[in-house]
Amino acid sequence: MKIKKAIEILTMYLEKDKETVEYYNNEIEGAILEIFEDSIGAYEVAIEALDKQVEKIPIKMYEDKNNKNVWRCPICNLPNIYPEDNYCLHCGQKLDWSVEE
Ligand SMILES: [Zn+2]
Repeated sequence: MKIKKAIEILTMYLEKDKETVEYYNNEIEGAILEIFEDSIGAYEVAIEALDKQVEKIPIKMYEDKNNKNVWRCPICNLPNIYPEDNYCLHCGQKLDWSVEE
């Protein structure tokens, strides 16, 4: 299964659990509510981790004195990343350098 499809499915379950908690708002018992909150948290962590593996295009900051483009991470804004970096050194986001070619 492709990562984007997995994210789509996990997001669907995440939304369903959120809707359930909202729908039954004050009627869900403590322990059952905790189970829903745990699964919502787990879906969020999994989606965020998977999304780091989906390549994102870096944001151009400026051209340095050697006419070389300097970029920043599109997720955490870490400055001064270069096309040699396949992943952001700070947040681990996979980077898509096809824009630089
Ligand atoms: Zn980053």
